Amino acid sequence: MIPYGRQDIDEADIDAVVKVLRSDWLTQGPSIQEFETTFAVYCGAAHAVAVSSATAGLHLAVKALGLKSGGLLWTVPNTFVATANVALYCGADVDFVDIDPNTYCISVQRLRERLAAVRASGGRLPDIVTVVHFAGQPCEMQEIRRLAKEFGFRVIEDASHAVGAEYMSRKVGSCDHSDLCVFSFHPVKIVTTGEGGMVTTSDPFLATALAELRTHGITRDPQRMESASQGAWYYEMLELGFNYRITDMQAALGCSQMRRLDDFVARRRKLAATYNRELADLPIRLPYQHPDGNSSFHLYPIVVEAEQRARIFAELRSRGIGVNVHYIPVYTQPVYRRLGFEIGYCPSAEAYYAGAISLPLFSRMSDDEQNVVMAAVRDVVLHS
Ligand SMILES: *Cc1c(COP(=O)(O)O)cnc(C)c1O
Repeated sequence: MIPYGRQDIDEADIDAVVKVLRSDWLTQGPSIQEFETTFAVYCGAAHAVAVSSATAGLHLAVKALGLKSGGLLWTVPNTFVATANVALYCGADVDFVDIDPNTYCISVQRLRERLAAVRASGGRLPDIVTVVHFAGQPCEMQEIRRLAKEFGFRVIEDASHAVGAEYMSRKVGSCDHSDLCVFSFHPVKIVTTGEGGMVTTSDPFLATALAELRTHGITRDPQRMESASQGAWYYEMLELGFNYRITDMQAALGCSQMRRLDDFVARRRKLAATYNRELADLPIRLPYQHPDGNSSFHLYPIVVEAEQRARIFAELRSRGIGVNVHYIPVYTQPVYRRLGFEIGYCPSAEAYYAGAISLPLFSRMSDDEQNVVMAAVRDVVLHS
């Protein structure tokens, strides 16, 4: 089976992890700081805080922005469930804004209309809008930032797909147009630490809040304490936090992977360009690239006719092509249905989902493997 995504680990990565295993620090050691600094420099961010997963990072992000019971987060349905779930963790409410049928990212037009309608009716505006750079394609951040100022909400970027992507010639993660940006290092993502995540921000207060919340809400900085320090052992728990730390083994792997990030993204873009060129004549929809962005191509989603999707998917799988589907609209999941969401709520997300198939795409994919995938897609799509 040619998988839809797969990690790219080399001997240098393995050596980096082994070196940590032979050192004094398996967690809370120097590799974490090194990973954070490397990542912040790469993105052009002022601060980066490494965490145990993107889910943990998203949870800390909404916590750091003060989301709690009675609060409201808006996001898109075309994402992994975790993007929305973290608001439920805080006891807050979630609502969904439909996607743009071209980019499959949040529709800024729908967002603007919804915000205006809520304001006009005296309804509840969101505290936070989490946008998702789907498949590695950056959202229209300038307009989102403008709406955030106009309507008074905070912006989180779920950049789980978008490490190495660019928006207006700046790296995603610079937080030029957002409060916080969250990345995932799960093995199917562009760089991996096994499990792991990173949160970047320009705001030093948010960075401190994230760093404390990831380690139980504890500080050892006397300046931050409410009482005088009682000695070198003394710490204070300022907020109810979590253990969302990454380990030094993971951070060392992350540092090592970062050295090849540009190669990974270049390879993904090349494979995507080949798909674009070689599949252009087929009766399927290929990914659209918004002119303000440059995708990192975590995914290569095609859209086939909805009535054909199940057949094409099954035939590709039976030929050893590890296709997948991203994403089932989040609000159609039982947990969200129980909250009252109904089918039909976001028609563009549902229409996209009905025909979506993600083709295999990963940096280690060979030209031969890609040729096998393309021949199979051609055959299965045309000979129905
Ligand atoms: C993978 C992913 C997550 C969750 O990442 P983890 O690191 O597995 O917690 C969240 N959002 C999106 C869009 C993702 O693709």
